[in-house]
Amino acid sequence: MRRMLLWMAGNRWLRDRLPKLWFARRAVRRFMPGEDAESALRAGAQFQIEGIGSLYTRLGENLVRIEDADEVAAHYLGVMDEIRERRLDGEISVKLTQLGFDLDVERTFAHASALATKAAENGRSLWVDMEGSAYTEATIAFYERLKASHPNVGLCLQAYLRRTAADVRRLLPLQPGIRLVKGAYAEPTEITYQARAEVNANFLALSVAMLEAVRAGGQVRIALGTHDVGLIGQVAEHAAAMGLRKTAFEIQMLYGVRSDQQSRLNREGFIVRDLIAYGEAWYPWYMRRLAERPANVLFALRQMIG
Ligand SMILES: Cc1cc2nc3c(=O)[nH]c(=O)nc-3n(C[C@H](O)[C@H](O)[C@H](O)COP(=O)(O)OP(=O)(O)OC[C@H]3O[C@@H](n4cnc5c(N)ncnc54)[C@H](O)[C@@H]3O)c2cc1C
Repeated sequence: MRRMLLWMAGNRWLRDRLPKLWFARRAVRRFMPGEDAESALRAGAQFQIEGIGSLYTRLGENLVRIEDADEVAAHYLGVMDEIRERRLDGEISVKLTQLGFDLDVERTFAHASALATKAAENGRSLWVDMEGSAYTEATIAFYERLKASHPNVGLCLQAYLRRTAADVRRLLPLQPGIRLVKGAYAEPTEITYQARAEVNANFLALSVAMLEAVRAGGQVRIALGTHDVGLIGQVAEHAAAMGLRKTAFEIQMLYGVRSDQQSRLNREGFIVRDLIAYGEAWYPWYMRRLAERPANVLFALRQMIG
């Protein structure tokens, strides 16, 4: 089921047709407050009342026209203005291929620099998502270059990749922001841990390595991008055993997923940030969310019928 949904995520024919169907639009509402930035910002303001921060991402990846990347960058600059004006504890998370990475790396770099500069003016960070493994090395190298001139940037790394332990070691000296996730793409078996238990064990080991760096006095902004509350609990136990505060790391979850747990963790004193996605280009992203939990397919079907 997971493989089929991930195949569907990458299928252009379906991507062009499925999103036009009203029932698909209705089902996606569970993971998205709306298609425009205004809906996302309003949802972020609601989270803020509870003390939960927000992250915003406009859906869209693998652009094929570089002019579209210019528009995306301009859009995010506008969203950052809104975040400041509304006094939201909000940050932006971008995919490099949404800023033109497939087409023109230098232009992508100029856009990412402009976004990071604006984020810094507002006292915020800019997050860079991690895409499929064809982009891993190039994205990390891009991050290293961006980080050299913009201290306020964070990068997503995926625990299902065997290479990630080395990548964490490589990045730690840079005082990075690292959002650790399990990983959402269909990848070759040679480069990934396939068993869930192995991915979880690697996630924990990588989290502990980052906490050790913090305990040793290093500057690392650690974000756990997971809904696996058991795993978060284990990381929290390790942090406590090292004498670190609950705020030594933050927890980032997706809008609409385990909302009850987001509130609980926030009440217990952890830093929680909700990633709110919006935009018309939701199809591949939504299919990856379904793949993460096949029970969501039943939920989607019920939404379509009911
Ligand atoms: C803030 C954030 C940013 C991310 N950025 C990236 C990125 O840049 N690159 C990337 O490859 N991946 C990214 N991901 C996705 C990530 O890789 C996983 O695919 C996703 O988080 C599901 O795995 P999990 O860690 O929640 O653990 P799982 O073991 O998959 O899930 C743990 C439990 O959480 C619940 N759950 C998980 N997912 C869902 C869902 N979709 N619907 C309902 N319940 C669910 C279930 O109860 C499940 O039992 C991001 C995830 C988050 C939260």
